[in-house]
Amino acid sequence: MELVERLIRGHLKHLEPYSSARDEYTGTKGVFLDANENPHGSVAGDKWNRYPDPYQRSLKLAVSGIKGVPTENLFIGNGSDEPIDLLIRAFCEPSEDHILVFPPTYKMYEVSASIQNVQVKKIQLTDDFQLDVRTAKGVTDEHTKLTFICSPNNPTGNKMRMRDITDILESSKGLVVVDEAYIDFAPDLSFSKRLEEYENLVVLQTFSKAWGMAAFRLGVAYAHAEVIKVLNMIKAPYNISGPIQQQALTAFLNFQKKNDWVTMVAEEREKIIPGIEGMSIVKKVFPSEANFLLVQFHESEPVFNHLISNQVIVRDRSSEAKCENCLRITIGTRDENERLLFLLQSLSDH
Ligand SMILES: *Cc1c(COP(=O)(O)O)cnc(C)c1O
Repeated sequence: MELVERLIRGHLKHLEPYSSARDEYTGTKGVFLDANENPHGSVAGDKWNRYPDPYQRSLKLAVSGIKGVPTENLFIGNGSDEPIDLLIRAFCEPSEDHILVFPPTYKMYEVSASIQNVQVKKIQLTDDFQLDVRTAKGVTDEHTKLTFICSPNNPTGNKMRMRDITDILESSKGLVVVDEAYIDFAPDLSFSKRLEEYENLVVLQTFSKAWGMAAFRLGVAYAHAEVIKVLNMIKAPYNISGPIQQQALTAFLNFQKKNDWVTMVAEEREKIIPGIEGMSIVKKVFPSEANFLLVQFHESEPVFNHLISNQVIVRDRSSEAKCENCLRITIGTRDENERLLFLLQSLSDH
C-alpha cells in the first residue's frame, strides 16, 4: 500500500519480525513440543501452561461482530495505550518526524512520543474546545506522521465537529488517529464506520471506560488492513494474555449491560449539572458527552483539597492549557454524586 510505504520508518521496511511457535504452527491438535511449555500442567490451573493466541482470533471475531468492523481492520491492544505507542514507534522517525496534538487533551500521545524522542507539535483547542483547523493545516507537512484527535475529548468532555475532523483527514498527508475512548456515551459519532472512505484513518476505542473492564487492559484500533499489519509486525508476540482473552469472550456475552450503565451515567450527569452550576464557588460547567464533567471554579485548589480531605478524589486539570481552575469529575453512582454535591455545597454560600 502506497500510504504505508511512504509513512513507515525506513528500517521497518526490512524488519524480520519475531516468528513465534504459534505463528509457525497454527493447528490446535497434536503433541506440542515446540514452545518449551510445561507439558504436565500449570501452577495456575490446568491449561494456562500453553501460550495464548498471538492474534486473538476468537476475541477479534467477537469484537468484529459487536462493532461491525472486519477482523482484518482490527487490532487488539493491551489498553488503547498500546496502539498509541505502537503507531508512534512504527511511523515516527525520532528527531525527524512529529505528531500533532490538540491540548487540552489526553496526555499519553505526548508522553509516548516523548519517550521515543519524537517531537510534539501542539495546537490549542479554541475557546469552545474545538479544533483550530486552519492553524493545524498551517503546521502540517510530510513529517506530520500522526495527528491525534480525541472525541469526545478528555478532559473537556465535548465532541469535535465532524466537519473539522474530516477536513483534517482530507488534508493530512499522515495518519489521523481519532481516539474514541468515550464513544459509547456519544454513539452517533463513531468513525469506525468510515474506514473505507479514509485510508489514513485510525480509530481507537477502549473497553476500560463504559464497558467497565479497565483492569483487563483491552483497547482496539481500527485501520486499513495494511496499517494493522504494521502494528502486528512490531507488537510483542503475546500482547494479550490467555486468561484475559478467555474472560473477555465471556464478558462480551453480556455487553448489553453496558448500555444500561451508559444511560444511567448520562442521566446522572444531566441531573447534577444544574446543582453544580448554581453554586457560588463554580464559574462554569462545560458541556459533556462523556462520563465526566470539567468544572471550572473561581479557585480550584481549596475545592480539590476539601474533597481530598473528605476522601472524594477528583482529577486536578488546572495546569492544562485553557483549563485554569478546572477539575475533572467522573460521574459516580447516585450516592457518590450526592456526597460530591454535599461537599461542594458546604463550600458555597448558597
Ligand atoms: C482512558 C483513555 C484511554 C486509555 O484507555 P486504555 O484502553 O485503558 O489504555 C485512551 N484515550 C483516552 C482519551 C482516554 O481517556
